[in-house]
Amino acid sequence: MSPRNSLEPLISAEKIEVRVAELAHRLEHDHPGGDLVVVSVLSGSVIFLADLVRKMNLPMRIDTVSVSSYAGRAVAPGELKVLKTFSEDVHGKHVLLIDDILDTGGTLSAVIGEIQAMEPASLKTCVLLRKKKERNIDVKPDYVGFEIEDLFVVGYGLDCDGMYRNLPYIAVFNLT
Ligand code: 5GP
Ligand code: MG
Repeated sequence: MSPRNSLEPLISAEKIEVRVAELAHRLEHDHPGGDLVVVSVLSGSVIFLADLVRKMNLPMRIDTVSVSSYAGRAVAPGELKVLKTFSEDVHGKHVLLIDDILDTGGTLSAVIGEIQAMEPASLKTCVLLRKKKERNIDVKPDYVGFEIEDLFVVGYGLDCDGMYRNLPYIAVFNLT
């Protein structure tokens, strides 16, 4: 069976475009002050980041962080390591943290900890997808694109073993 046969479309490119525009509009409205640093978690959020920031008419800087690999299992906060740290000093800045998906919350909570340690003026978090599930880690993103079931998804930046990031839509990846 070809690997494409195991992809089940979940959120179309058109729906993503509409929702990203809505989020950008709200983010623009909620960040009137300037001194904005948008921090994107590599690599899954790069496509979301690229579409989102081009719809936000605000002065901003963009930075990226990278977090130690996701092994598809629940992890406690602290087990994940922030590998690439910030190029920007976010002390006293308004920070908007962007990630592709909230699963266990381990990734966001690790990055939030690093950012808080630098004492930003404010910190908001935005994820494209949030899985509906119980979480031991208490992370509540300020902005969420779509709520999805607790399934493994790919596309629009999200990968499976490095593949499928360039799909323009989001699909459920069924292991066959
Ligand atoms: P968490 O740390 O919240 O458990 O997981 C967040 C990270 O795990 C995301 O940034 C993403 O890289 C990866 N991840 C979690 N769920 C999925 C999924 O359904 N599909 C893909 N491709 N990556 C996921
Ligand atoms: Mg990620």
